[in-house]
This record gives sequence, structure tokens and C-alpha cells, in this order.
Amino acid sequence: MARTHVVLLGPPGAGKGTQAKQIVDKYGLTHLSTGDILRDEVARATDLGKTAKEFMNRGDLVPDQLIIDMIRGRIEAADAGFLLDGFPRTTAQAEALGRFATIDVVLNIGLARDEVVRRLTSRRVCKGCGEIYNLTFNLAEGETTCAKCGGELYQRDDDKTDVIANRYDIYERSTAPLIDYYKRQGVLRTLDGLAGSEKVFSEIIDILTA
Ligand code: ADP
Ligand code: ADP
Ligand code: ZN
Repeated sequence: MARTHVVLLGPPGAGKGTQAKQIVDKYGLTHLSTGDILRDEVARATDLGKTAKEFMNRGDLVPDQLIIDMIRGRIEAADAGFLLDGFPRTTAQAEALGRFATIDVVLNIGLARDEVVRRLTSRRVCKGCGEIYNLTFNLAEGETTCAKCGGELYQRDDDKTDVIANRYDIYERSTAPLIDYYKRQGVLRTLDGLAGSEKVFSEIIDILTA
């Protein structure tokens, strides 16, 4: 595969995590999700986790420098390539990233606000293995355990309607400018997040293997 330094960009709920799991399974890239890393820090009640938790529960971004310090070593250690999921989210993060890594392609998954709200209010995640589900299409009514590992399914603290609205506003203000930033660098590819996840995945395969 020619492209091994890959960024997934898109609003909350666009399907970044869902696609990321399939991409890294197929290509052996290191999956680096800043959201997952932060939730692990929160669960372990580290200093970083305690600081990050307040920002995350409001749907605000965790300060740039904390995120950059958290992710940099992991990117540099990913010898077989990396898939960045949820990073960068601000121009300052993108500029920092550009100073320590090259980026081959940015997969920009677009999704409008109303669909984001629908998807995130019905998202459920496995506590055991992190598998991502949705009440509207792959969970039977009343199902509370993971089909893959039997773990308990839960709703993220930030997947509540008022927090989701704030996250989308922040996406538009702070993260959407990265679309033009990466377009100017000639590495942006845009996908329609409204399509089914199999369709999105097959388009990603075409881009990554081209
Ligand atoms: P993100 O990582 O961008 O926040 P997720 O991958 O967690 O997004 O997906 C958000 C929700 O939408 C989850 O409940 C997931 O099951 C669902 N989802 C993901 N991709 C699609 C799709 N293509 N069509 C419909 N629902 C999807
Ligand atoms: P989603 O893709 O569903 O919006 P994530 O799991 O990527 O959610 O992020 C959850 C929260 O973690 C964000 O709302 C934010 O508070 C924090 N976070 C994750 N990545 C970053 C980042 N790159 N910069 C700042 N904050 C981040
Ligand atoms: Zn599971």
C-alpha cells in the first residue's frame, strides 16, 4: 500500500471510528484515536485524564498542547504507518503535526448536523472491546451486551443532545477549516458520510490502494 500516513477528518458521528477499525484491520496501520486515548486516561484517573474530563464532558476541545504532547510519541513510534482518528482538530494541531510527520492522505467524511444528532444519540459503545453500535441498525431492542466480546454496552457521557450540539458548533468553528488547509496541500479526499458504511469503506480502499 502506497499511503500509510493517513488522517480521518469529519464531524463527530461521521463514522470515523467505524471506518478506522476496518482500515487498520486490513492494512496493519496503527490506529491512533485521541478520543479513545483520552477516555482511557479518564478511566485510569491520571493527571491528564482529570484535566481532560471537564473539557470532554462539556463537548469542548482539550487544549492543543496537551493533545500534541500526548500523541506525538505514538505517531513517531508507528513504524508501519498510522491512521489518525480525531486528530488534528485545530489548525494549531495540524501545524504541529506537519512539523513531525508527513501526511499522505486526509479522508474527509462529511455529515450534516441533523444526521450527526440522530446518530450520536443512538450510539452505544462496548466497554470491553470498544466496538461501536447504533440502536437504529445493528442492535436488537433491549440488547445490552456486545456481540463480539460479551462486554457491557454504554452511552458515552458526551453523547447527550446539548453536548452534541456544542461539539458540532466547535467542529464547524475549529475543525472544518482543516478541510481547506489540507485541500491546499493537495492531500484531501472527501467522502459522503451519509452513504452506508460498506460503501464508505470500499471508497476508502480505492483511495488507499490507488
Ligand atoms: P465518529 O468516530 O466519527 O464519532 P462513529 O464511527 O462512532 O463516528 O459512528 C457514530 C454512530 O453512527 C455510531 O452509532 C455508528 O454505529 C453509526 N454509523 C457509523 N457509520 C455509519 C454509516 N455509514 N451509516 C449509518 N450509521 C453509521
Ligand atoms: P467524536 O469523534 O465522536 O466527536 P472523539 O472520541 O474523537 O469523539 O472525541 C471525544 C472528545 O475528546 C472531544 O469532544 C474532545 O473533548 C476530546 N478530543 C478528542 N480528540 C481531540 C483533539 N484532537 N483535540 C482536542 N480535544 C480532543
Ligand atoms: Zn465488545
